[in-house]
Amino acid sequence: GKRINAAVSQALSNEQDDYVTNVETMLKAIAMALLENDVNVKLVSGLRNNIKTKLLGDKTANKNVSQAQVKKLIQKTVFDELCALVDCEATPYQPTKKKTNIIMFVGLQGSGKTTSCTKLAVYYSKRKFKVGLVCADTFRAGAFDQLKQNAIKAKIPFYGSYTETNPVTVAAEGVDKFKKEKFDVIIVDTSGRHHQEGALFQEMIEISQAVKPDQTLMVLDASIGQAVEQQSKAFKEASNFGAIILTKMDGHAKGGGAISAVAATKTPIVFIGTGEHIQDFEKFTPKSFVSKLLGIGDIESLLEQFKTFSNKEDTKATIENIQQGKFTLLDFQKQMQTIMKMGPLSNLANMIPGMGNMLSEFSEEETSRKMKKMVYVFDSMTKEELESDGRLLIENPTRLIRIARGSGTSVLEVEMILMQQQMMARVAQGAKQMGGLPGVPGQNA
Ligand code: GDP
Ligand code: MG
Repeated sequence: GKRINAAVSQALSNEQDDYVTNVETMLKAIAMALLENDVNVKLVSGLRNNIKTKLLGDKTANKNVSQAQVKKLIQKTVFDELCALVDCEATPYQPTKKKTNIIMFVGLQGSGKTTSCTKLAVYYSKRKFKVGLVCADTFRAGAFDQLKQNAIKAKIPFYGSYTETNPVTVAAEGVDKFKKEKFDVIIVDTSGRHHQEGALFQEMIEISQAVKPDQTLMVLDASIGQAVEQQSKAFKEASNFGAIILTKMDGHAKGGGAISAVAATKTPIVFIGTGEHIQDFEKFTPKSFVSKLLGIGDIESLLEQFKTFSNKEDTKATIENIQQGKFTLLDFQKQMQTIMKMGPLSNLANMIPGMGNMLSEFSEEETSRKMKKMVYVFDSMTKEELESDGRLLIENPTRLIRIARGSGTSVLEVEMILMQQQMMARVAQGAKQMGGLPGVPGQNA
């Protein structure tokens, strides 16, 4: 999909003197880009009207603003409006300890329920909940084995049956067993197999009546595009789920479906699946999501991951730098080290603008080799160079050659790293200009 900020820049390069014309040109470009990203037609036109009213409602007030200010204003307005669209007011259910929290999964076959069940189980288990998985999919041959294998791999207790054919019975038995054993969170996986909606929904209701879930989660495949709206609406009516997990946000999903799902159901998205592996699971945050959709880099998620996985003291300076709109080579080096410590988490690399693209076509082995090379490059830089914004290196071919030699790489490889660091520095700068990072006091321009 075409990146939306590219569209904005394109529109801006054809700038006119007339404020109204400028706003309209830009809005048209943004609307096109949103549509290309699977955002629903009605939502796009609503958004366009809202922004128009906001920016053109009081023409006299805006007449004398500079071109740069108009651009900032539009970007910020688009960002805020999109955030408002995916930021649902409703607060999803939060499991608490010392009681049994039952979570039931619903969704079509193939949407990613079984995979997401395990991911969620791991998520709560890491947060010290005692979690059990129940397989209530008695239809698909191998369904129990799939859940079992996932659960064993993730070290999560599980329950299922090879002989019982009634999903309601298995669900009730599993929940009962884990309840007796004082589990905190019991996750019930269902089948979603029927081709007739009526039968599928009937089964869903029966399981729900038997296990009485505290939360019903709907799993939705983001790659189905515009069909998200109709599907999520139908499930909402049948199961009244309280939150959504949007899967397959890696790959070809363009992300716009998330907005439709929230708008159609007035229900929040709580997690997104970003791959087939257990660790490919992220908390959904509207600001990060919109940043990604707009192609401005996902600084907030990056900071979040960075804070979670790295040594606090070690990364404090980097976090402060990013918050101030700076990103030095040293920051980049630390980030690489963090990523390497975390293992083959290419989805973290994806949050760094340009990095995902660079690494996506390589195997895990190649990726790790590439990353090691980057480490050698950093090791060959001086302290002064590392602490700089990188420009002194770009302008110094002699040093580039020395670094390439010292690290056993090529000048091109060193330049690639510098290019990436420059790109991230621009993203950090851009995030600051767009009104600062959320939750950072004194950053709201
Ligand atoms: P279910 O039928 O709803 O239980 O769906 P499964 O959990 O069996 O998933 C169906 C397929 O989608 C499997 O091949 C999964 O590995 C894959 N899958 C699930 N979640 C994701 C995701 O977030 N990204 C990608 N790329 N694949 C996923
Ligand atoms: Mg399944």
